[in-house]
Amino acid sequence: MNRNRRQALKAALLLTSPWLTAGRAIRADESTSSVKTGQTVVVIGAGMAGLAAAQRLQAGGYNVIVVEGRHRAGGRMWTDYSLGTAVDLGAAWIHGDAARNPLMKMVKQYDLLTKATDWDETWLYDDSYGELEDETYDTIIRKSEQIIERLYEEQSTAPIGRSMADALAPILKGLSGDPIVQRGVRWWLASLIEVEYAANFDQLSLKYWNVDEAYDGHDVIIKGGYQKIVERLVQGLDIRYGHVVRQIDISQSGSLVTTDQGVIECGQAVVTLPLGVLKQGKIKFNPKLPDEKVASIERIGMGVMNKVVLEFKDRFWPEDASCLGLLKKSTDDLTEFMPMTPYTGKAVIVGFTRGRHAKSIETMSNEDVIQAALSDLRSMFGSRVPQNIAGSVVTRWHSDEFSRGSYSCISPGSSFSDYKTLARPIDNRIFFAGEATHAKYLGTVHGAYLSGERAANEIMQSMGSGNNTTETSDSNR
Ligand SMILES: Cc1cc2nc3c(=O)[nH]c(=O)nc-3n(C[C@H](O)[C@H](O)[C@H](O)COP(=O)(O)OP(=O)(O)OC[C@H]3O[C@@H](n4cnc5c(N)ncnc54)[C@H](O)[C@@H]3O)c2cc1C
Repeated sequence: MNRNRRQALKAALLLTSPWLTAGRAIRADESTSSVKTGQTVVVIGAGMAGLAAAQRLQAGGYNVIVVEGRHRAGGRMWTDYSLGTAVDLGAAWIHGDAARNPLMKMVKQYDLLTKATDWDETWLYDDSYGELEDETYDTIIRKSEQIIERLYEEQSTAPIGRSMADALAPILKGLSGDPIVQRGVRWWLASLIEVEYAANFDQLSLKYWNVDEAYDGHDVIIKGGYQKIVERLVQGLDIRYGHVVRQIDISQSGSLVTTDQGVIECGQAVVTLPLGVLKQGKIKFNPKLPDEKVASIERIGMGVMNKVVLEFKDRFWPEDASCLGLLKKSTDDLTEFMPMTPYTGKAVIVGFTRGRHAKSIETMSNEDVIQAALSDLRSMFGSRVPQNIAGSVVTRWHSDEFSRGSYSCISPGSSFSDYKTLARPIDNRIFFAGEATHAKYLGTVHGAYLSGERAANEIMQSMGSGNNTTETSDSNR
């Protein structure tokens, strides 16, 4: 079986969701109106949410200006080509290649190629005992699934403040038997849950864990990377790069967006600032953001995932491997690698770090991060790992002033309603989009896309130029 990872989690309980209704997502270039409204909308941020909102509004006849702090579009979609192949340093997978996933509609429309990740090609190694036997591997999966079932059972009655760590601690303490299986179960759960949500167990709510929605189908990688979508979505838009927003002011009759390059007057603004940036509170809103919005911003978690990309002259891992895991005494530090071989044939491997460990590598030099990753690889493949690498890239999403983290997660004490509160417009002049405003598909590119469309629709409806056909069953409002 080759499901996507969030489905794999759900499958443990054969959950069916009331949200699983066939939706109709709207193409970015699908016109809803040919009439020029004369209305100027400033979209803050040229990530997926901003680009989706801008395309929708422009197609609806609005005069749209996108202001972007960086000197590139895409935000947390960022494809690197420096190692002679496409490597996504931010989002890499389209989660769920079902036809109703709006990203798959773009893949089709733009004639892009994708390749599914075969999660069954996960190879596990123990740092003392080497590659695991099939039987041990199967036992690890079976035991992990039993634990996931227990977590689901506890979930329904869990108080809102209970964390995944609270629920897992007694279960993991009770693990007995083969020490490799015990280590394997810890690794498997950390990989499936912590890496997926870019946060540690104590940073994740039990009650709202994995009840966000997922599209059916495989996790797929786009040939050429997410940049292939970004480069199509920027077409025809007025994007002002290197414009760092400092203030959004609706205290007077118009709306004023102040950037470090000057002030832009508009009718409405769409704020797609990442949750991590909003948490910092450095961008001024006049009047101040409502207390309930500020409280939601504080409560929602901002996960951190960093990637350590290593290029080698030759491949030394199994050709078809899509995931390589190293079982160690502790799962605190780097635990898994994703080879790019199945997608590009190149000897490039991507190490994934999540939560506190991901944050901690940002305090280290690139050289130290790379040596730590090589040391883990040597524990798996011994002397087959060469002394010298051909190239490398290390990400630092938490220190990045334009993201301050990787993607949102529901932390203990938080809930879906915080995402909806964050999404709520202010005075029909400031509208909000971005992955942390989409309660159903939080933390994903498709969630960001749908949130952008939603914000554009809200503006059009508030102006009486809305077209209800654009409201999809994937909307979370
Ligand atoms: C390492 C990593 C791995 C991921 N993996 C996946 C994956 O495999 N699949 C998946 O679906 N999702 C994944 N995600 C999540 C996904 O990338 C995001 O959910 C999505 O791209 C967010 O889009 P957005 O438009 O909400 O925000 P962003 O893309 O962050 O866009 C916000 C924009 O605002 C700009 N900005 C910020 N501050 C200012 C300012 N002051 N002034 C002007 N502009 C500003 C930013 O530069 C940015 O361009 C991953 C993310 C990371 C970091």
